[in-house]
Amino acid sequence: MTSAEVLLVGGGPAGSSCAWTLRQAGIDVLLLDRARFPRDKVCAGWITPAVVEALDLDVNDYRRTRTFQPITAFRTGVMGRDLVDTAYGSAVSFGILRREFDHYLLERSRARLALDVHVNRIERTAAGWLVNGEYAAPLLVGAAGHFCPVARWLNGPRRDEAVIAAKEVEFVLSPAQASVCRVSADAPEIYFCPDLAGYGWCFRKEQVLNVGIGRQDRHGLSEHLERFVAGLQHAGRLPHDLPNAWRGHAYLLYDSSPRAMVAENMLLIGDAAGLAYSQSGEGIRPAVESGLLAAQAILAVIRDHRSDALANYHTTMQARFGRRAGPHDRAMSGNGLLPRAAVSGVARRLLGTRWFSRHVVLDRWFLHRHEAPITKRVVP
Ligand SMILES: Cc1cc2nc3c(=O)[nH]c(=O)nc-3n(C[C@H](O)[C@H](O)[C@H](O)COP(=O)(O)OP(=O)(O)OC[C@H]3O[C@@H](n4cnc5c(N)ncnc54)[C@H](O)[C@@H]3O)c2cc1C
Repeated sequence: MTSAEVLLVGGGPAGSSCAWTLRQAGIDVLLLDRARFPRDKVCAGWITPAVVEALDLDVNDYRRTRTFQPITAFRTGVMGRDLVDTAYGSAVSFGILRREFDHYLLERSRARLALDVHVNRIERTAAGWLVNGEYAAPLLVGAAGHFCPVARWLNGPRRDEAVIAAKEVEFVLSPAQASVCRVSADAPEIYFCPDLAGYGWCFRKEQVLNVGIGRQDRHGLSEHLERFVAGLQHAGRLPHDLPNAWRGHAYLLYDSSPRAMVAENMLLIGDAAGLAYSQSGEGIRPAVESGLLAAQAILAVIRDHRSDALANYHTTMQARFGRRAGPHDRAMSGNGLLPRAAVSGVARRLLGTRWFSRHVVLDRWFLHRHEAPITKRVVP
């Protein structure tokens, strides 16, 4: 049996941020992940400055041997219509490769690691939790993404979840592909679907190109993707020989996720709790911030013996991300990337205007510039 003060399942941005903060406070953390790192994660790899700040990322150290693409502009609009160019003049986001980013954060956390361990058995014991019959701790944190086994233990198998389904390809452009690709590295392109049930993107990070689409209705996803890519190739923006290496994944949006995040001596963070921002689908910032807030709650339990601290995590998360809709609200408002009220011809026209693109789509929905970052300083 291997024991620790805290068991963390999942070593993505949520798990590593939580482990990093707990380790700095001297807590014995054991982190389990089914992968060996470095490992890939289906993701466009776009992060906002709030993530850099929350992680206290040493950018110069990070970018020395890794991809770190500053973004100073965006091209946004509706598929098949003219796009709007919005320039900021300085970096408002960055592009990273998840294979590098997650590995860097996990190593930096200094948690004890048990990798190549697929968690599939969770049991309550008198002393706390026993995982796979082998790993024990009084406190358990679920950070294993959308299909997290700890989330399933807490919430049961959910069939009523309004899942966002996404598909993408990420690859290094050959010199020939780079010469015909018109997607600029400092200006990602965001294309809303005409029915506003999702959006596609083209995102170049130095010599790496990421193209993908995310939508509320997973059944039509492949057809929407094919139409989206064919349209861009026809318009001469993308090379015609994209590799046939499309990968899919799913996640929940915060507003419509029905998942409980807390039980006795158990917390969920990141995608396991269903935290992605509702309009943009950005999940790395909520994953990191929830990891920091969970660490704060855990430290209050371990150091200050405040038995109510884990229950307070729920309140803290609501204060940070807003009150979640109940089942009735979800039925009334619809689930998805855009509020139902916005799904109209008016909204499509607005998405083609400069003012709306900059101040609403980008500043509010995608960059969340109105929300100050949570930093490690919130953790005592
Ligand atoms: C196509 C797509 C594009 C996206 N693009 C962006 C983007 O550009 N920017 C952004 O901010 N967000 C994006 N997101 C969302 C973002 O990827 C997630 O919100 C983020 O990765 C969540 O981090 P996490 O740590 O909670 O989980 P994850 O990153 O999913 O990490 C979970 C970890 O748990 C491990 N694990 C899983 N199951 C088990 C198990 N049974 N036992 C042990 N370990 C297990 C996995 O190996 C993994 O290492 C995108 C999502 C998709 C699907």
